[in-house]
Amino acid sequence: MSLTREQMLAEMGLAPIWRLRETATEAPETKAALAPASLPTDAAQVVASKPSVPAAPHAPLRPPGAVDTLDWPELAAAVAECKACQLCQQRKQAVLGVGDLNPDWLFVGEGPGAEEDVKGEPFVGQAGKLLDNMLAALGIARGEKVYIGNAVKCRPPGNRTPEAAEMAACRPWLERQIALLKPKVIVLLGKAAVHSVLRDDSSLGSLRGRRYEYQGIPVVVTYHPAYLLRNLPEKAKAWEDLLFARRCLRERLASGGGELPL
Ligand code: URA
Ligand code: SF4
Repeated sequence: MSLTREQMLAEMGLAPIWRLRETATEAPETKAALAPASLPTDAAQVVASKPSVPAAPHAPLRPPGAVDTLDWPELAAAVAECKACQLCQQRKQAVLGVGDLNPDWLFVGEGPGAEEDVKGEPFVGQAGKLLDNMLAALGIARGEKVYIGNAVKCRPPGNRTPEAAEMAACRPWLERQIALLKPKVIVLLGKAAVHSVLRDDSSLGSLRGRRYEYQGIPVVVTYHPAYLLRNLPEKAKAWEDLLFARRCLRERLASGGGELPL
């Protein structure tokens, strides 16, 4: 991390907290650290990908064509042209996502904001800076074994929360992204991502701390970085969630072969 970046994060009041928590909680790199300590992973608490709330009330306008046969370039082209929901009307561009197409980690946020809409990349604003800092604290970086996407690909006007029908319309794109990316752990950032992937509308507080599954991939729920910017004390909980996600990833890599990260 460059000095400028450190200074910038320090100015935002972010860097010291993440750094401190990391060394305090994760100092011993032992096998024991691979086992969940306070956070349960036993079978009873693993929730399958089965929907636990009814699907969106309105029948979504499906993206056209057979989404589940698209390869990545076809998917990217189709999303760029998509008009399956009203969010297409005010977007500058659809924002598919960014990162390694063979990732260990998939982070899913809510939807592009104003800066993302202009730049065509997710999480480039303030919340994105915090997300990058969270990744850095984990020893990973945007684009290196990490993919970042969103529940909806087009900016909701005024940065409002996407409606259920919009998330339902956009879900097939996210589902195809996950099928093609085959991440080894999915981290859901906030309620919209949870709604889209787990189809659960329970409160974030009641959902975090457990390992869910989507198509056999471990899923961990945590707060959205924008929420953390408004509720700084909750960052400690988000850090716990990320460490838990890393344990899920390591277990997955250990059981399926592959190189252990950091
Ligand atoms: N918030 C999100 O959820 N996604 C982005 O891409 C930017 C901000
Ligand atoms: Fe299509 Fe998703 Fe954009 Fe709606 S938000 S127009 S479904 S890409």
